[in-house]
Amino acid sequence: SQICWELRTRGKFSGLANGAGVSEAYVTLATNDGYAIGALVLGHSLRSNNTTKDLCVMITPSVSVAIRSMLEGVFSKVVVVDVLDSGDSAHLSLMKRPELGVTFTKLHCWTLTDYSKCVFLDADMLCVQNPDELFSHSELTAVCDIGWPDCFNSGMFVFTPSHDTYTRLLQHAETSGSFDGGDQGLLNTFFTNWQRVSFVFNMVASATYTYLPAYKQYGGDAKLVHFLGSMKPWQHRYDRNSGSVDIPHGYHHLAPYLNSWWALYMKLVQPGVPDMEVKECLQ
Ligand code: UDP
Ligand code: MN
Repeated sequence: SQICWELRTRGKFSGLANGAGVSEAYVTLATNDGYAIGALVLGHSLRSNNTTKDLCVMITPSVSVAIRSMLEGVFSKVVVVDVLDSGDSAHLSLMKRPELGVTFTKLHCWTLTDYSKCVFLDADMLCVQNPDELFSHSELTAVCDIGWPDCFNSGMFVFTPSHDTYTRLLQHAETSGSFDGGDQGLLNTFFTNWQRVSFVFNMVASATYTYLPAYKQYGGDAKLVHFLGSMKPWQHRYDRNSGSVDIPHGYHHLAPYLNSWWALYMKLVQPGVPDMEVKECLQ
């Protein structure tokens, strides 16, 4: 059954998708306007670090029309994923495990078979240096999770779109489920032979990060910063007058990245966001 479709391919970057055999892309996901704002900043951060890859975002119909059209200006492909389609086998599994909603939405990235290889990125990530060398790796390549390093963190992974893999992932979800209730638990029991790349490709610099000397030694090499956890960049308070973010206790090592996130947001995203959406997203 067809459960997602390409909404539209247009905008100044669409030539990349249709042009001279470019078939590699970064893929992200947003099921609401808050995460869509995150996706916009992530997209701009990849562009400003001169990625040569295509950018694709998967959204659900709950993303507002105004934000969707902004996404179309940054991403060459906006794919609407309808998780409510009752003819969808993903949805049937979802009925048994409603908490896996977002997980199933992320799995749709395997259906993007217009691309030969992709890198999935969570919408709460920021590119600070060009990470394109990730595309020299194959499925499944990722970074160790800092909570249980035998697992990979599913905020970034190199994958190969394939309807067959997608179907087998759904079967795996139905038969084995996810040990953490999220996509990470599911993907880690499916891709047991994953390959590790450096932490700089998914640097989780949250309040739980406690190895400060290593951060001081290697943090400068970071290519993708991941704002993992319940407090997302768009939920922090930003002072327009001083042009800086209010940094909560315990978030100090994150300050440069939060300020970079907000600088990009204020310059390239905020001017296009209608007032109504700002209130909704940035509460
Ligand atoms: N996501 C989404 N809507 C949600 C929750 C998650 O679109 O309500 C997507 C988004 O791309 C997000 C990813 O799923 O970055 C994983 O969730 P999150 O980043 O919140 O998890 P964490 O990295 O904090 O474990
Ligand atoms: Mn995340």
